[in-house]
Amino acid sequence: MKRLLEGYAKFRREAFEPRKDHFHLLSEIQSPEVLFITCADSRIVPDLILQTEPGDLFICRVVGNVVPPAGELPGGVSSTIEYAVEVLKVRHVIVCGHSDCGAAKAALNRDSLQRLPLTEKWLRYIESAWNYLDPGVSRDDPKALHTALIHANVIAQMENLKTHPEIARGLTYGTIQVHGWYYDILTGTIEAWDQKARRFVPLEEFVLPEEAILAPRS
Ligand SMILES: [Zn+2]
Repeated sequence: MKRLLEGYAKFRREAFEPRKDHFHLLSEIQSPEVLFITCADSRIVPDLILQTEPGDLFICRVVGNVVPPAGELPGGVSSTIEYAVEVLKVRHVIVCGHSDCGAAKAALNRDSLQRLPLTEKWLRYIESAWNYLDPGVSRDDPKALHTALIHANVIAQMENLKTHPEIARGLTYGTIQVHGWYYDILTGTIEAWDQKARRFVPLEEFVLPEEAILAPRS
């Protein structure tokens, strides 16, 4: 706790003061272009990884970067998506998984969830990831399987995302793009799902498809 208080003092001194004007602008309105959906894992710090400033990212953090499909009980994730698209008019939605994800690990070993009934229920949304597993991965290699399931889960949750009416509409009319990323904690690198190549590629090499150039922000 002491560390947090020291951090707050440092923020006031070194981060807030130089950005005073920016915070003044943000004090009455936000206009982020990106909805960033990622895991609750403490090792993922979007604003650090992407060097973004307050107001840049609308962030939804949830165990396993799960996006329940539309039509399920209304929950925090669905309402965050709805608000981001309908009110904030975000242009991009990024689903970002990460290496060593405990949610995917638990999905591989459901016995570990015996005393976590809510988590067990929540992680049922990861089950559809098996449909997107890289067919080349060895099921005898636990680490490779874990990593492949995390990648597959990014695709699965992107597909779930597309079932939300506001996302489907945005994709149809070219006002929104959906992206799938994988962040590696060890190397600090990001891979992006390349729909055309049907594989994850380093983010530096990822090229937005021409047809994905967005219509004007309404
Ligand atoms: Zn995770």
